Amino acid sequence: MEEKRQVYLDYSATTPVKQEVTDEMIPYFTQNYGNASSIYSVGATAKDALEKARGQVASLINAEPSEIIFTSGGTESDNWALIAMARKLKTKGRHIITSAIEHHAILHTCQYLAKKEGFEITYVGVNSDGIVDPAEVEAAIRPDTILISIMFVNNEVGSIQPVAEIGAIAKKHGILFHTDAVQAAGNVPIDVREIGADMLSLSAHKIYGPKGCGCLYIRKGVILPTYIHGGAQENRKRAGTENIPAIVGFGKAAEIAQRDFDRHVAHVKRLRDHFVERILAEVPRTHYNGSREHRHPGNANITFEYVEGEAILLYLDFAGICASSGSACSSKSLQPSHVLTALGIPVELIHGSIRFTFGDMTTMEDVDYTVDQIKKIIARLREISSVSEEKGW
Ligand SMILES: *Cc1c(COP(=O)(O)O)cnc(C)c1O
Repeated sequence: MEEKRQVYLDYSATTPVKQEVTDEMIPYFTQNYGNASSIYSVGATAKDALEKARGQVASLINAEPSEIIFTSGGTESDNWALIAMARKLKTKGRHIITSAIEHHAILHTCQYLAKKEGFEITYVGVNSDGIVDPAEVEAAIRPDTILISIMFVNNEVGSIQPVAEIGAIAKKHGILFHTDAVQAAGNVPIDVREIGADMLSLSAHKIYGPKGCGCLYIRKGVILPTYIHGGAQENRKRAGTENIPAIVGFGKAAEIAQRDFDRHVAHVKRLRDHFVERILAEVPRTHYNGSREHRHPGNANITFEYVEGEAILLYLDFAGICASSGSACSSKSLQPSHVLTALGIPVELIHGSIRFTFGDMTTMEDVDYTVDQIKKIIARLREISSVSEEKGW
């Protein structure tokens, strides 16, 4: 029997770890397993690897190595930046500004701060392209505003936010600025100086590195209280024995993301544009959600009118194709995506919306196979729903 074709189009949910990355990681499980805090030489080897990785990650975002603190991933970095900074500044003020389209790692953290710790949150909206207006951020500033957190690139519709403008506004008003740059890394250039970010979150597994590893950039001069207490690791900022193999993998993945940036962007953009062009031309009643211009190069978010996204995903899965409805985190709930809602898309269209995200391992054959399958799936689902209408189901 012919083996079933597998096509992975969910690179914004996670990415496979590159061979070059695992090759670097493996010796740190087996030979160089020392604790980076120990003084004997296996420990020193681990310490050297830790500092090399710190330099590689810093270089990707134009930071100093000393400004990078390794964490367990994007979620921890977001929680740490928001919760620890809010608690530190609560005597100055209790107002935080974020956007309506943030990842749940930010949104649910803000909801927690509002509900349990007495902070007030303003959620600025977005236009129909999924982009925040910096003027709206500025208008939301109050005398008691202590922190602004606006993501760099949205994970559902790929919209790129005007973070440098927002960073300048924050600076002008003397307010700290954090950005979740997890989806930006490797896909748009990141320069912490240009953005004027005080804090910035990254995750390894979105850039072909291992899961459970990320970092928080904390600008020199910004004091963020410790969030995870224990040993003196990470310059006493984040306790716990460092996950050296994962950090080494993160460093290598960051190095590759920087080295191969132009090639990667051109590759995913070519696939994405071909996919979108074919879908819009060959599948009737489809919409391309989000900005065409200010967009993650590998993101396509498509609405298929008159069909249920969950049904499409199921049939795509039968055809060996992995995609997602909105974010992986909400894929188990039937709540309409908060991001598509913020773009002003009606709820019935949100339910027929699918995110396809392309990556380094995707081929043009994968894209054409997917479009051919989608054409059949949509035609079939629409046939069923019109039949049910005729029968009065
Ligand atoms: C994936 C993601 C996160 C969470 O990162 P983890 O490393 O999985 O915890 C946070 N923000 C955005 C925008 C993401 O895409």
